[in-house]
Amino acid sequence: MKRLWNAICQHIVAPTQLSSDQLPRLLAPFNRSPQLRRHAAAVIIARVQLICALFAVLVPLWAVVDLLVFEWPVAWPLVLMRLASAAVFATLAWPRGISMERPYLQAMAMLVTMMLVPPLFYLASLQVIDVSRLSGWPRLVGELYGFMPTVVLGGLAIFPLTALEALLLSLPAIAIAVFGMAASGLEFSLQQHGAALWFMLLMLGVAMFSGMSQTHYMESLVHKAMTDPLTGAFSRRSGAEALELMFRLSSMSSRPLTVVFFDLDHFKAINDGYGHDAGDQALIALVQTLRGILRRGDVLARWGGEEFVAVLPDLPVAQVPAFLSRLRAAGLGIRPDGKPLTASIGVAESLVDGVGDWAKLVELADQRMYRAKHEGRDRAVLPGGAVIGFSAA
Ligand code: GH3
Ligand code: MG
Ligand code: MG
Repeated sequence: MKRLWNAICQHIVAPTQLSSDQLPRLLAPFNRSPQLRRHAAAVIIARVQLICALFAVLVPLWAVVDLLVFEWPVAWPLVLMRLASAAVFATLAWPRGISMERPYLQAMAMLVTMMLVPPLFYLASLQVIDVSRLSGWPRLVGELYGFMPTVVLGGLAIFPLTALEALLLSLPAIAIAVFGMAASGLEFSLQQHGAALWFMLLMLGVAMFSGMSQTHYMESLVHKAMTDPLTGAFSRRSGAEALELMFRLSSMSSRPLTVVFFDLDHFKAINDGYGHDAGDQALIALVQTLRGILRRGDVLARWGGEEFVAVLPDLPVAQVPAFLSRLRAAGLGIRPDGKPLTASIGVAESLVDGVGDWAKLVELADQRMYRAKHEGRDRAVLPGGAVIGFSAA
């Protein structure tokens, strides 16, 4: 059974692999990293804007068909509705930035708005078109409008969504379609409308499948692009991106942001004495230890070879000594000769240091790390110049 389940999972997400902790993130959009959430939002917003730009042009053009097919009293309300829909699409397509604070909310609001336009158009068209009384071309066009909610469900398939998101987003369209069936003048029955309902569910299934597969592919790519392959810590570039975002958010809310710069002591000696592999293993172990000490919202980036930067939001400088004692208690690992691995550490904090940008914060932490190095290594230099020696404690 488990093998069958694994085989199914692998096919959903082929060609990438699916780990057990990733599956819940394909089912519902919880427990995502801020980077992944932001990336998903950026993709959704870009696609919504592309489709809306297309529809802002195509929807009014179709008015020609309405004018040719329907009598004037039916045609003019349809043309007006087309212009109103095109206005909504054009507004959504209008170039805009991605919200710094709530990118996901912005993406969902735009997607829901776009998804509502065609079903609402269909609902309004029911007020002017009575399909049961029509025949010939007008009937065909009237029936085509009945497909709008279904088309919307199919359209969901182009977005990287989780199963739950696809399901929730499809509910308004399904509800409107069912309401339309009941109100369309034809008596509602399973024989009459069963095929249309079945087709909608099929479309929803396709959208869920496609959304999950895109979500997983996106997560794999984002993870690969963001992390250092040896240690799994953030790469310097993605660390800088995360730091820039965190700095902006914390300065908007006047909350502290602390940067801790680590440079391992006499690391070259490990490579020289025990080989590069031993050095690599020490780096991997170090990152694992640091992960155990850092909180969920903290970021750890490999800044250079054996230099790491930890970014700790909402950690005021007063709490830094407690953080350092946790670090000391956990240790940074053991060198191949059995001695403890140590680091020189520089700390900077946005409020106390009063810096205007994230790069300056890292620069200060780096300078303090150098001071720690020159004062004998295995110690931390804090804002204001206080030194916390590790081995002495
Ligand atoms: P100090 O206490 O002054 O910092 O001494 P150090 O030897 O740590 O300083 P230095 O910056 O001169 O050396 C850093 C060394 O880190 C050089 C390089 O061989 C090693 N290093 C950098 N990246 C890697 C890596 O990915 N794997 C391994 N094994 N070693 C690395
Ligand atoms: Mg170094
Ligand atoms: Mg070093």
